Amino acid sequence: MEMVKTRIRKNDIVQVVSGRGSGKMKADSGQDRGKRGKVLEVDKVKGRAKVQGLKMVFRHLKQSKDPQKPGGGRIEKEAPIALANLMLVCPKCDEPTRIGIRLEKQEREGGKVKTRRIRVCKKCGADILDRD
Ligand SMILES: [Zn+2]
Repeated sequence: MEMVKTRIRKNDIVQVVSGRGSGKMKADSGQDRGKRGKVLEVDKVKGRAKVQGLKMVFRHLKQSKDPQKPGGGRIEKEAPIALANLMLVCPKCDEPTRIGIRLEKQEREGGKVKTRRIRVCKKCGADILDRD
């Protein structure tokens, strides 16, 4: 299965921007453009992410037959947003930014060198660490 390349990860703070895509993807950014939220999950296969509090949709609940619990009604849930419409917000400069990758070599016991890929803000150059 083809996976979408993205540098956005779970627990990142992202901002909704107008998408590069057309049609359906553009419609995605609509009402939440400029808003921020925390990434709840990333679906690399579909190229979408759910962001806390953004693109809320109503899910209707079944009416309960139990008279004690009238139930029914609706709950709000996050719907996935196209990754093309999301930009990572740099924790340092607090701006939505493009992400670069910095390679950091770490020497380990036995002289082995391991290379870590660290995300960096293209605006201020700060490291953007994963928050898990
Ligand atoms: Zn920055």
